[in-house]
Amino acid sequence: MTRRYFSEAPIASAAATLDGPEAHHLLHVLRATAGTAVTLFDGSGAEFEAEVIACRRSSVELRVLHRRQVDRELPFSLTLGVPLPKGDRQRWIVEKAVELGVTRLVPLVTQRSAAASEKHSASKLRRYVIEASKQCGRNRLMEIATPAEWADWLRLAERSADGRLRKWIAHPGRPPLLAAEVGGAKPSYVAVGPEGGLADEEIAAAEAEGWTMIGLGPRILRIETAAFGLVAMLALPR
Ligand code: SAM
Repeated sequence: MTRRYFSEAPIASAAATLDGPEAHHLLHVLRATAGTAVTLFDGSGAEFEAEVIACRRSSVELRVLHRRQVDRELPFSLTLGVPLPKGDRQRWIVEKAVELGVTRLVPLVTQRSAAASEKHSASKLRRYVIEASKQCGRNRLMEIATPAEWADWLRLAERSADGRLRKWIAHPGRPPLLAAEVGGAKPSYVAVGPEGGLADEEIAAAEAEGWTMIGLGPRILRIETAAFGLVAMLALPR
C-alpha cells in the first residue's frame, strides 16, 4: 500500500494541496519529490491515487490521478461511550476504536470521572483519529462527540425505525452475553464505566432507560480492556 495522507479539504478536482502535519510528514519524513506516489483520503469514503508535483516550504501540491470508493466501514453503526483516561491510554483507546471500526466515540463524564472533559482536547483526539485512519486504511473518520454526562449518554441511543437496537453497558458481576445476542448488523451503543466503577444510581438510571448490563468475566478489567472486549465482540467478522 502506498503511503496514505489525509486532506482536510474535500478532494473535488485533479489538484490537491496538503499542509500542516500531513505536508510536514511528506516533506521531512518521506522526503517526497516531484513524482512521489501517495494515496489521499478526505473522509468522504473514497481514496485517491495521487502524485507529488511540487514541494513548497510547508505545503505540497499533488495531482490526483484516480478516485476509488473503498468501503472499510462496519455494516452497522457502533457508538462507544467511554470515560477517557489520561495520556497514552487515551490515545490507545482512540486508535483501537478507529481500527475496529467504531463509528462514533463519546467521552463520558460520570460521577467518578467528573474531570474527564478537561483531560483531552478535541483537536488532539482528532489527530489520533487521522493517524489511526492513515494506518488502518479507513476512508471515513470516526466521529469524536463532545463529552456527554451520563444522563445524556443514556438518552443518546434512539430507537431505530424497526426497533432493532443494542444498548449495552459493561458491568462486573452481571451475566455474560449469549452468543445469539452478538450477531446481526444492528445499530449498537456500548459503554464502559470509569476506573472507580459506575455509581448505583447510574446503573439504576441505565436499567430504567432499557440498557442491558453485560458481564465480561470474573476478572476486573481496565477501562480500555473492557471497551475493546465489548467492541471486538460486535466488530470482528465471524
Ligand atoms: N471496582 C469497579 C467496579 O466494580 O465497577 C471496577 C471498574 S473497572 C476498572 C472499569 C469499567 O470496566 C467498569 O465500570 C465496567 O464498565 C468495565 N469492566 C471491568 N471489568 C469488567 C467485567 N469483568 N465485566 C464487565 N465490565 C467490566
